[in-house]
Amino acid sequence: MTSQSLSEAVAEIVDKFSISEQRLKSISDEFIRLSKLGLHHEGESMSMIPSYVTSIPNGKEKGTFLAVDLGGTNFRVCSVHLNGDNTYDLLQTKTSIPRELMVGTSKDLFAFLAKRVEEFIKTHLSEKFDEDSVDHQLKLGFTFSFPVNQTAINRGTLLRWTKGFDIKDTVGQDVCKLLQDELDALNLKVHVAALVNDTVGTLMSRSYSSPGQHSTLMGIIIGTGTNCAYVESLDAVVKLGESELASLAKTSNMMIINTEWGSFDTARAVIGSTEYDDSVDQRTPNKGMHLFEKRISGMFLGELLRVVLTDLRSKNLLFSSSSPQLETEWILDTSALSRIEADFSQNLIATRTLISTDLGLETTLEERKAIKTIVSAIGKRSAYLAGAVVAGILELTSALDKSAGVDIGMDGSVIEFYPGYESLMREAVSAVVGQEKEARVHIGIAKDGSGVGAALCAVVA
Ligand code: ADP
Ligand code: MG
Repeated sequence: MTSQSLSEAVAEIVDKFSISEQRLKSISDEFIRLSKLGLHHEGESMSMIPSYVTSIPNGKEKGTFLAVDLGGTNFRVCSVHLNGDNTYDLLQTKTSIPRELMVGTSKDLFAFLAKRVEEFIKTHLSEKFDEDSVDHQLKLGFTFSFPVNQTAINRGTLLRWTKGFDIKDTVGQDVCKLLQDELDALNLKVHVAALVNDTVGTLMSRSYSSPGQHSTLMGIIIGTGTNCAYVESLDAVVKLGESELASLAKTSNMMIINTEWGSFDTARAVIGSTEYDDSVDQRTPNKGMHLFEKRISGMFLGELLRVVLTDLRSKNLLFSSSSPQLETEWILDTSALSRIEADFSQNLIATRTLISTDLGLETTLEERKAIKTIVSAIGKRSAYLAGAVVAGILELTSALDKSAGVDIGMDGSVIEFYPGYESLMREAVSAVVGQEKEARVHIGIAKDGSGVGAALCAVVA
């Protein structure tokens, strides 16, 4: 047997992660097919969850609201003052969720969240709170970025945990009630007025902040996890049933849909699979689920890289030895990929330092070049997969046939910090819908999406 060289092995890996133009189109087509199924029936692989938000802001909304955001990595509490002129003032605190609470009990988690709200109010809004008047009850928008079966603007039961959370007794419960009960237990005069998926919030905040000539069609998150909400015509949401549709149609002809695209193509008909993806999936609590998300988002790309490096090490193609760090699961953060991608120094000095610090390993220049090539392949696949489904939504809604341009609000550390991510996404969009249409897509980072967006949902409620 002739042994493989490092460069041959790397070329093979790059090939495994690459997505042809033809496959981008297949991904988009399959996305449209599964989205339609999800709009027609409950229980489909793509949940296509109705948000019950049937209008988008125009920037003139006013008032002071509370918003909390349980995202994945952090819990944020904020107060939002909408000025009514596309601007707002936001005061925000952030706490990381202790790991043991992510796998403990509902009561412990929600009591922890309510306690953070109490602290925020005592520190930042105490004057509103010393008064006994019920008028001072604050409306709170609850951004909860996990799949829920929403049945009203402030009611929704958890379908399943994702992103490392695994609390059995929360599944099937109304998360608004869980939070409200713990807030009440602390005697806080706060009303949970809206349950908001972070993608819906991102769409809403983008629409409030930039009500330019193009209306906002999508809110996309690529952070710890990935998901997207978009504006759908009400009559396409067939699964709501005739009577509910008729009653909603009295006030609106649209509804924001939370796609839950993280679970797109769990059958792996088009998204492709490498042994590295399988290996990462094996070590997640929700094995075999959210496979699309596991190829795209921040929680997984660092581990994916580590698994590839471990494989090359085991074949004696990379590093002169292993290290305890290299053998430690989940040790690499996706920000490491961003830093390697951004390393344009001739000798890849930043990469050398990073591998030495994070993995305790020394590298040759040839090895660093190999690592950088692998990083780019992982990053590019992530952006291409995201771009292919963005194209799917553009086609599903015919938005670019109906208007001159569309606007997309994006949030999350991967989209914000991964070098070149938006351009790569656009390449994929362009490959599917054509360059002329792609050029009419406007993309902007929607800052504070979960805070301001949740407040805007509380306004609508
Ligand atoms: P959340 O998903 O909790 O709202 P973020 O949007 O900040 O939070 O996403 C956090 C995820 O982004 C983590 O998985 C982390 O690994 C990843 N991440 C953080 N910084 C970067 C970066 N510079 N480049 C790419 N990914 C990053
Ligand atoms: Mg977030």
